[in-house]
Amino acid sequence: MTQIAFIGGGNMATSIIGGLIREGAVSPDLIHVSDPGAEQRERLTRDFGIVTHESNLDAISSATVVILAVKPQMMKAVLEPLQATLNTRQPLLISVAAGISLPTLKEWSGCTAVVRAMPNTPALTGFGATGLFASEEVSLDQRNLTDTLLGATGLAMWVQTEAEIDAVTALSGSGPAYYFLLMESMIDAGIKLGLSEETARRLTLQTALGAGKMASSSDVAPDELRRRVTSPGGTTEQAIATFEGAHLRDIVKAAMDAAARRAAELS
Ligand code: NAD
Repeated sequence: MTQIAFIGGGNMATSIIGGLIREGAVSPDLIHVSDPGAEQRERLTRDFGIVTHESNLDAISSATVVILAVKPQMMKAVLEPLQATLNTRQPLLISVAAGISLPTLKEWSGCTAVVRAMPNTPALTGFGATGLFASEEVSLDQRNLTDTLLGATGLAMWVQTEAEIDAVTALSGSGPAYYFLLMESMIDAGIKLGLSEETARRLTLQTALGAGKMASSSDVAPDELRRRVTSPGGTTEQAIATFEGAHLRDIVKAAMDAAARRAAELS
């Protein structure tokens, strides 16, 4: 049986574990988590019935998959004392940490089968989007296992080159904030048009949810969905013309270029 160890039991680990338990993908007694926080460990045991450890070495001792879910700045210090064990045992290593490259992860861990995952915050709700890139030593079975593990938080997709992880970071990694910004702007504009704060907020959030559901449950592409709600001479047409006149597409492109450049600088 595959035993999975999470190093770090914070937000991202909790999202993945929650998804795995919800879907019945892995039995709770095969999930081991280490975290120095006693409260964190108690919460994980109480909520999910999984096995927790104070020591990272104890968590990985029988694991065939090790998921690194600590902050990027902690990673080197976390891996150093584990390197000898990881090097001997050679589990599949999956890192969800932003900005730490595959060669660096290999060097610090002594593992050869390494996957870099770039999830996003909606993973907390089961509607996450994750980009995955594997070292060539990762086997087909290990890829399938990674799909199951990260797929438990939503959509998981493989990319072909490590550089694409920077594009994934700029798109889905940072993407939720772009939608939140649009929501903020719509709420503010709705209030300025005379709506109460509550009405503007609730209508904005429901509209975002409805548009997301429509676009993701339909075979019709977003540009066609937009055309279908834009009648000639109508209200939506006026709004879209204003967005296009202000070069919204160029703004989105520049924003994502900036995010991708920053992701490349960090890794
Ligand atoms: P978090 O702070 O919620 O969790 C980190 C956990 O690591 C904490 O519970 C902390 O107690 C624990 N920890 C600290 N030192 C440790 C040690 N020496 N050994 C073991 N555990 C230790 O952070 P998070 O949001 O879950 O982020 C974890 C990783 O996920 C980060 O590398 C981040 O880049 C990545 N990530 C997170 C998101 C997100 O949406 N939260 C998105 C993409 C990537």
